[in-house]
Amino acid sequence: MAGRRVVVVGGGVAAHGAVAGLRQTGFRDEVVILGREGEPPYERPPLSKRYLLHEVPRHQLFLPPLEAELLLRREVVWIDLDRHEVHLANGERLAYWRLLLATGARPRVLPGGEHLLYLRELRDADRLRRHLDTGRPLEVLGAGFIGCEVAAAARLRGVPVTVHEALDQPLRRVLGPELGAWLGEVHRARGVDLRTAVRELPSLGQEALVAIGTDPNVELAAAAGIHCEAGIAVDELGRTSAPDVYAAGDCARFRSPLFDSPIRVEHFQTAHRHGISVGRAIAGYERPFAEAPWFWSDQYDLNLQYVGGGLPWDRAVIRGRPGAPRLTPPFTAFFLRLGRLVGALGVNDGRTISQCRRLLESRVAVTARQLADPLVDLKRLA
Ligand SMILES: Cc1cc2nc3c(=O)[nH]c(=O)nc-3n(C[C@H](O)[C@H](O)[C@H](O)COP(=O)(O)OP(=O)(O)OC[C@H]3O[C@@H](n4cnc5c(N)ncnc54)[C@H](O)[C@@H]3O)c2cc1C
Repeated sequence: MAGRRVVVVGGGVAAHGAVAGLRQTGFRDEVVILGREGEPPYERPPLSKRYLLHEVPRHQLFLPPLEAELLLRREVVWIDLDRHEVHLANGERLAYWRLLLATGARPRVLPGGEHLLYLRELRDADRLRRHLDTGRPLEVLGAGFIGCEVAAAARLRGVPVTVHEALDQPLRRVLGPELGAWLGEVHRARGVDLRTAVRELPSLGQEALVAIGTDPNVELAAAAGIHCEAGIAVDELGRTSAPDVYAAGDCARFRSPLFDSPIRVEHFQTAHRHGISVGRAIAGYERPFAEAPWFWSDQYDLNLQYVGGGLPWDRAVIRGRPGAPRLTPPFTAFFLRLGRLVGALGVNDGRTISQCRRLLESRVAVTARQLADPLVDLKRLA
């Protein structure tokens, strides 16, 4: 009998947040986390940044311990919805009262390139860092956030770097062509051999890093017949299509009341906050998750912060001015869709981004002109 046992699959930050959320409500029953990795929950963001620079020691990556039973190296391979049980790879079974899937995402693998470097787990970062320690040149496939961050870390360590990108500019899908071109110049000014619009796969050495995006880990849910669509589909409370089964974090595509749209985000803070919200909902404190997703990226001395749901946009306006590659005063680009603000990216401009976050969450209508005008106080608008 499971009693009121909550079983959480995945040992990442969303699982960590969910336990915190449950306990905040006073939930005193059993919570069991089943995680495939051999490590307790840790922060992944430093793995492509300061961990590679030897600036963050390993022990600092780990999240604070939680009031839950944490079972490591346990892979869940099957969910029996009728019996309310999960089956583990080692043959064990565990009954649940409520089940939370926080299975995260995994790097997209290049067909035939399974032996190359990928970056998701601590052991991947260790392998990549060992390569950087040798000082040998690094090749990177993909100029998304991970590719750009690793390229920056490698250059800061004096390692020669070549980046191959299929699109015309790095991070083009998020930043658009102009800002993407600006970021490309930032990397070139730091000595990255950035090759864009690459149409044919280059021949990559054994130690190349492949960073061409991620896929949500939905297979477990899908095999049980739970509805998945570019992620495990959940409502504002984190409920899946199956009774008593929830999902949170990178694996979940949740309905966001802020954007009137389902969104899936891959941000550390959102995974944590979403986990907290869903944990609370499991305990009966049902409040829709209506926070504006936010994340950051560090490249050289630039701090990029993004707020929004990553939805398509048709117009960008800029407050401030992108400077020369090595001299960047703060600026923020706002992204609008059909005249409505849907996101913003700030460079060394965390203040504007936090104001924009409040603006998005308040759902106040703003014009492109107000956003572009540095004399308009966004805090007051929100
Ligand atoms: C290198 C790197 C840098 C990043 N940098 C930033 C950044 O600067 N800013 C930012 O906001 N975000 C960043 N992110 C994204 C952020 O780390 C993720 O959004 C966050 O880790 C998601 O947490 P999660 O718990 O949903 O998933 P995960 O962290 O992926 O955890 C899921 C866990 O579930 C386990 N699992 C999966 N399936 C099973 C199963 N069947 N049985 C048992 N266990 C299972 C996985 O092994 C994994 O340990 C970065 C990510 C990476 C990889």
